Amino acid sequence: METNPCNTAVKSGSSIPSKTSRKAKAEDTIVDVNGVKFGDTEIVVIAGPCAVESREQLFETARSVSKNGASILRGGAFKPRSSPYDFQGLGEEGLMLLSSIRSETGLPVVTEVMDTRQMELVASYADMIQIGSRNMQNFPLLKEAGICGKPVLLKRGMMATLKEFLNAAEYILAQGNNQVVLCERGIRTFETSTRNTLDLSAVPMLKSLTHLPVIVDPSHGTGVRWMVPAMAKAAVAVGADGLIMEVHYQPENALCDGYQSLSLDEFSGLVTDLKKIAVAVDREILIPKTVTA
Ligand code: PEP
Ligand code: MN
Repeated sequence: METNPCNTAVKSGSSIPSKTSRKAKAEDTIVDVNGVKFGDTEIVVIAGPCAVESREQLFETARSVSKNGASILRGGAFKPRSSPYDFQGLGEEGLMLLSSIRSETGLPVVTEVMDTRQMELVASYADMIQIGSRNMQNFPLLKEAGICGKPVLLKRGMMATLKEFLNAAEYILAQGNNQVVLCERGIRTFETSTRNTLDLSAVPMLKSLTHLPVIVDPSHGTGVRWMVPAMAKAAVAVGADGLIMEVHYQPENALCDGYQSLSLDEFSGLVTDLKKIAVAVDREILIPKTVTA
């Protein structure tokens, strides 16, 4: 058993886990997803649909977001839906579509894995593995993510404290994989006017506690399309290293989370505004180099 050398207080006075701690490693960790770097001066924008639905939907969306400032494409093939009767994702067919859009555009892809039995399959297609909010404390899955050989996007559990979040990351680092990006995606509170309460105070707090990059998901964080731009800009202003946002070529027809998905035009307008906010905090939005489509 390793001892925990870190005694940084997270209000409760308890310590945060050792490998994720700034005390163990002062300098920022750079997470490299096929050349797209999180944790550097440049802010990484991840965009795409909640779920991969069809070739047309994915390709139309991907082509547009890649031309307008997204460096990584998101899209779920295995979806954690609240109801078992809702669209569950295309499974391996969705992974194949993601991989073919990567070949066309050069855009790396991030997609969720929900089950240890799917880790090998998902890792064979994806450039970055996503562990969703509902699985943040699925410890066997976290251990698999630690040995999968791919960078990991770890989303904060909707009821998780920052200490629990950092402990979840520690499970991955403990297996020898330090390529972990943390994502604040909103927490459950008494407030019901938004889907979740986006805890932007988590960003500066996490940046002080850990060397890992921190990004924000204003789509799930609000669940309200018109609020996404305001909260995305706020996230950049408070020091986020990136954003992950749901964008759909026809939000009104989306099979999943259309009400919080930006249209293609809304996304490109937002990136124009984000560039100005980034400059104000001495940063810039990473512009993808490899778009060919
Ligand atoms: C998602 O990003 O597709 C998702 C399901 O998010 P979360 O795990 O944050 O709910
Ligand atoms: Mn979604």
